[in-house]
Amino acid sequence: MDKLKIAIQKKGRLSEHSLQMLEECGIKFSNGTGKLKNESKNFPLEVLFLRDDDIPYYVERKVADIGIVGENVVLEHNREITILEQLGFGGCRLSLAIPREEKYNNLNWFSGKRIATSYPNILNDFFKKNGINADIEVISGSVEIAPGIGLADGICDIVSTGSTLLSNGLHEVETVIKSQAVLVSSKELSDDKRQILDRLLFRISSTKNAAENKYILLNAPEDAVEEICNILPGMKSPTILPLAIKGWCSLHSVIREDDFWNVISRLKKAGAEGILVIPIEKMIL
Ligand code: ATP
Ligand code: ZN
Repeated sequence: MDKLKIAIQKKGRLSEHSLQMLEECGIKFSNGTGKLKNESKNFPLEVLFLRDDDIPYYVERKVADIGIVGENVVLEHNREITILEQLGFGGCRLSLAIPREEKYNNLNWFSGKRIATSYPNILNDFFKKNGINADIEVISGSVEIAPGIGLADGICDIVSTGSTLLSNGLHEVETVIKSQAVLVSSKELSDDKRQILDRLLFRISSTKNAAENKYILLNAPEDAVEEICNILPGMKSPTILPLAIKGWCSLHSVIREDDFWNVISRLKKAGAEGILVIPIEKMIL
């Protein structure tokens, strides 16, 4: 049976997370870094290590069947590939930034200005949509220094915390797109490969669901159970077990991590005690 080939970034911000995601899916590799390819020992998957910018093209050409790459790169390269799934890591945004001392009211600031970027296609679309006529200066790296050396009036670049902008005397004024790592695939796959991909997608969604949810246990007096059940937006309905102390019980449920922080004080007010929140390894819905 054919193996499915996945392209991931060789060295960079997405490399470690991509491999970690495969490992969390139970896919194991023999050791060895610096290689061009690596085959899994226990799953019909072969990994190709590539520069992230090359991944959309290689997937389009079917050198790789699928790949992990930032949405920003997929949108910029505009290849004939399919985005299958957002992977929840590699989060960032593509933003416009201008020198700190410049006053900014709205997008019209950019009219007639020169903007440096490594994302000319995305930026061009954005300006076009917003009716802005600006000159786009394409540079491949260190975009943030362009205004300081007089190459451009502003920049459009990837931002995650904004500290690089700050240290270059720039401030962020508009978000052009938000991005995260995505799984992409070529337009056509053989039946065999499609089957392997479905197995992989199933594993990815189980680990992703698990990462987004927590198992919650708490103790409560019996007369508080109804109210607590109403607060907990669980998978189905919570498990309720009697405690050794009369009149008390233990309540188990699954809760989204985001929701947990929102309901914690209401749970305590309703009478919940000894609240435990435990990570889930896999979650099959
Ligand atoms: P390569 O050598 O593979 O071309 P690169 O320098 O283009 O690497 P990285 O800086 O490793 O790429 O970024 C890879 C991807 O990580 C980006 O395309 C983006 O989707 C995502 N990313 C997340 N946070 C950031 C950030 N702060 N800066 C740049 N990219 C980020
Ligand atoms: Zn790159």
